[in-house]
Amino acid sequence: MTSIEIAGARIDTRHYIKGQRVASAETFKNTSPIDGTFLGDISSGDQAEVDAAVAAAKAAFPGWSKLGPKGRGELLHKLADLVEDNIETLSQLETLDNGSLLRSHRRGVMPRVAMNIRFFADYAMNELHHPNFETRGHTNVVSWDPSGVTAIITPWNAPLMLATWRIGPALAAGDTVVLKPAEWTPLSASFFADLTKQAGFPDGVFNVVQGFGSKAGAALVSHKDIARVAFTGSVPTAKVIAKAAAENLTPVSFELGGKSPLVIFEDADLELAATIAVEQYDNAGQVCLSGTRILVHENIVEAFSEKFRERALQVKQGDPRDEDTDIGPQIHQVHFDRVKGFVDRAKSEGANIVLGGTPNDELGGLYFNPTLVLNPAPGSEIVTAEIFGPVLCMQTFSSDEEAVQMANDTEFGLAATVVTGSREKAERVTADLVAGTIWVNCFFVRDLRAPFGGSKKSGIGREGGVWSFDFYADVKNTVFSPNGWKE
Ligand code: ADP
Repeated sequence: MTSIEIAGARIDTRHYIKGQRVASAETFKNTSPIDGTFLGDISSGDQAEVDAAVAAAKAAFPGWSKLGPKGRGELLHKLADLVEDNIETLSQLETLDNGSLLRSHRRGVMPRVAMNIRFFADYAMNELHHPNFETRGHTNVVSWDPSGVTAIITPWNAPLMLATWRIGPALAAGDTVVLKPAEWTPLSASFFADLTKQAGFPDGVFNVVQGFGSKAGAALVSHKDIARVAFTGSVPTAKVIAKAAAENLTPVSFELGGKSPLVIFEDADLELAATIAVEQYDNAGQVCLSGTRILVHENIVEAFSEKFRERALQVKQGDPRDEDTDIGPQIHQVHFDRVKGFVDRAKSEGANIVLGGTPNDELGGLYFNPTLVLNPAPGSEIVTAEIFGPVLCMQTFSSDEEAVQMANDTEFGLAATVVTGSREKAERVTADLVAGTIWVNCFFVRDLRAPFGGSKKSGIGREGGVWSFDFYADVKNTVFSPNGWKE
């Protein structure tokens, strides 16, 4: 069986290399986290498939590069049109494959996927202005040249969304791409490959090799013909990839995990604070940006807790295809066991679990109840490790200085959220927080013109706007002398 039917569309289960479908002798089973339904046997790639995909991308590079921002932009816009035409299929596919909400995919995620592609196509065409600098009559002209084949390795929590944050700018910059989607969620990437074909992309410009990180992933990031490695995933995997990339001195862009603080000051609007806090359970906590450490001023902890509890109890867990479901299952049994393991260990160490803390028995399967741990022991695993499930911790502070110290007391630095009624406090506190993105009285607002990435162990590099092109392109400075001209 080389394809499966979902939402009226045929999804190919083979790799996509040089515009063709290629099968592997080995396959792996893909099941839905919603109810364990078997979805298909997926071709599992290794060195040979990676070699073929990288060779195809390398061969396609000169043509794609020469097309220029406008030629590439036309094709990228066609691709975005096709994504928009297929929002329903893509939404159903992604929900079935990774268990996140169908309603979010339809209304938010898939339209954003199209926007990710359009934005970077337009940015390459209209916003890279090639600044000029004069040096004693000499003119410096800066350009962003395509750099070659980009390897993109993506995680399972928002498969197509996160892939297109990378694919959009890489293709717009003139690079060709080999994508290795996460083994738990390969389907949307496969369908997306068909859309590139329909849009008229030259063969080899975009390739997908499916498979495990230790095989297909490892072969890809260590390949000598890769010019850039873009990886979104966990810190341990990033360390392995960094070592492999170092062998060829391949530049890397890493977007990794977090244990982000959500700081609620005494003067905060408590309704807003509770709304934002409960949002941290979105996608069943499988969001790298989640503010999983709630830090609350001691004077409002009771009032806030009451409001939080009210809201948290209203979070409806269930089948992510139902319109009124707020959060679905964990992605996979392995991950479910990992999340449960964190909570069980915290319990055995005497943690005060004031909400949830157990699998959802009514739903069974991979559903874990939204959980809150009150005042965990400082330095304990539950408050330092990224859990990536619906598990929040709550701690109190008594001064702004203590809030900042606690917020920064982590090896991560992806994001931080602050809720306060005072602009002066917001400016003072955010200046001292260490994080790639800080939200004040809001959460999850992302503008593709803005830099995005992690401080400390949450990442290497920034993407968005010109920062994306600085990574995917070779930035070049050409100096023109005032002398030596014959015309
Ligand atoms: P998680 O632990 O959340 O599943 P990972 O960081 O392990 O996240 O996985 C993210 C992506 O990295 C997946 O596509 C996975 O297959 C890939 N991956 C895992 N190990 C490696 C590796 N050694 N080299 C390249 N890619 C890898």
